[in-house]
Amino acid sequence: MITIRDIRAICTAPEGIPLVVVKVETSEPELYGLGCATYTQRFLTVAHAVETYMKPLLVGKDVSRIEDIWQMAMVSPYWRNGPILNNALSGVDMALWDIKGKLAGMPLYDLLGGKVREAAAVYRHADGLTYDQLDQRIENFLEEGARYIRVQTGAYGGVHDVNSYKPEGACPGAYYDPREYQRGVVKVFEHVRSKYGFEVEFLHDVHERIEPIHAIELARELEPFKLFFYEDPLPPEQVEWFRHMRSHTTTPIAIGELFNHPLEWRSLVTERLIDFIRVHISQIGGITPARKLAIFCEQFGVRTAWHGPGDVSPVGHAASIHLDVSSWNFGIQEWNGFGPNSLEVFPGCPTLRKGYVYPNDKPGLGIDLDESLAAKFPCDTRLPQWTNARRPDGTLARP
Ligand code: MG
Repeated sequence: MITIRDIRAICTAPEGIPLVVVKVETSEPELYGLGCATYTQRFLTVAHAVETYMKPLLVGKDVSRIEDIWQMAMVSPYWRNGPILNNALSGVDMALWDIKGKLAGMPLYDLLGGKVREAAAVYRHADGLTYDQLDQRIENFLEEGARYIRVQTGAYGGVHDVNSYKPEGACPGAYYDPREYQRGVVKVFEHVRSKYGFEVEFLHDVHERIEPIHAIELARELEPFKLFFYEDPLPPEQVEWFRHMRSHTTTPIAIGELFNHPLEWRSLVTERLIDFIRVHISQIGGITPARKLAIFCEQFGVRTAWHGPGDVSPVGHAASIHLDVSSWNFGIQEWNGFGPNSLEVFPGCPTLRKGYVYPNDKPGLGIDLDESLAAKFPCDTRLPQWTNARRPDGTLARP
């Protein structure tokens, strides 16, 4: 029996964004696995949970029993399904799948049933403060062969100078104007559709920046522009509004990056209120629950679009791509690409060619971590500022 010998959390920021990677070492010399436990905004807390709770709980356990280990580690603290412990669990879970693949001599996609497609179609992020900047980004992506592009102007919520109508003494924060933002989105989609036609698939992320009724109104306003999907129009606290949204618009809906708990997605899927589930895989506890979620969604005609921002480690991105190429109901993969430092720190990153990302065919996740190089990119512990989003009267908003 091969057992878990050690579990460590490695924090590194090759592109300036803190990442947490878990390394599970085994009783076999040289045999180890890697998993993503990245919760950038609270990375030290996740790393602490891995080393103070996951390690003593799991050292000595049989590496082959992924399901049992996942279930046990999930309920061990009794209170469960929170972002810190789900990420810690994901680090271990992905590493165990990596180990299982290495033992089997198979890439993860083969363990999951084999490829149903050679590569995952991805969408790229185009953003600009002006239409000229935005067009430049879109045209660069089109030249690279991208066929799916997310269109934003001035980041989430847009950028509007609200200084002239803020109350005196308003708190500092990342201010935006929800109604200006909403008007701006309609205008930018008029612009991109008139300039690029309907062959390119365009997407948009609302990032829960507007009131529920306005999110429904905007979904209707965007109907003529045929979005591939309309992302996070509502915060997780307001998911009941999806019933109303669904009855008023055919704009395809994607949500899920903030979800932690199965109850957050279950009725959205079974009632067919959404079109794409896009959880942050480490946030729900790793490959084990993500695979179950993909299969569950298949039964209801809901496609996957796993969250793929810069605050997923390359190990986590590799896990997403293995799921993408082996899940029949895959929809699209969000893709930011890897900077040069990441490519060196994480040998074996999946590769982007003409709008598709390809996994490599090495056993397991197929990706490694150069620990000595990772140590050269320490993580910044300053608190994030963008999550302090505020509306023009100073009210704190959902970021
Ligand atoms: Mg998003």
